Amino acid sequence: MKDKDDQAHSDHWENEFLSQDSGYIGEPSKRYRCPKCQGLLVSKQGKNGTFWGCENYPSCDYTANDEAGRPVRAKKYFCPLCGGQLKRKTYNGNTFWGCTNYPDCKMTLDDFDGAPASAKKYPCRACGHYLVRKKGPKGYFWGCIKYPECRHSLEDNKGQPVPRKVRHSP
Ligand SMILES: [Zn+2]
Ligand SMILES: [Zn+2]
Ligand SMILES: [Zn+2]
Repeated sequence: MKDKDDQAHSDHWENEFLSQDSGYIGEPSKRYRCPKCQGLLVSKQGKNGTFWGCENYPSCDYTANDEAGRPVRAKKYFCPLCGGQLKRKTYNGNTFWGCTNYPDCKMTLDDFDGAPASAKKYPCRACGHYLVRKKGPKGYFWGCIKYPECRHSLEDNKGQPVPRKVRHSP
């Protein structure tokens, strides 16, 4: 008697299962694992918006950026001057990249679509290093990465350095 009941019961569930269209089962909300400790990543709200942190925080400090609901590991960028890591910062509404060795290293780079604009390099004629686009009080200009050792700079014209014309004294 009992066997028959169980049989009916499982038939019932089997039919219910089969009658579901596959879409109904749905995808359980995706889980992302921390590559550092294999804990789960949880979506968090920070002052710069949503990001992902490890459930084992603070013993694990892994974080990732949020991109359309998925954790995306922030790319690392390094200071062209001292090799330290660059960090994206926002100050007075301006986003830029600063060296983590600040104040020993005062390297800053413009933000260009979420990456430091260091790809845009221009050779410095004065010292052989290179110029990067910077924002000063009067707007953009190109300054030597060796600043203040080298004060060579060029004006900026729509993202391009304006080569300085050789001036002939009269
Ligand atoms: Zn972790
Ligand atoms: Zn640096
Ligand atoms: Zn220079």
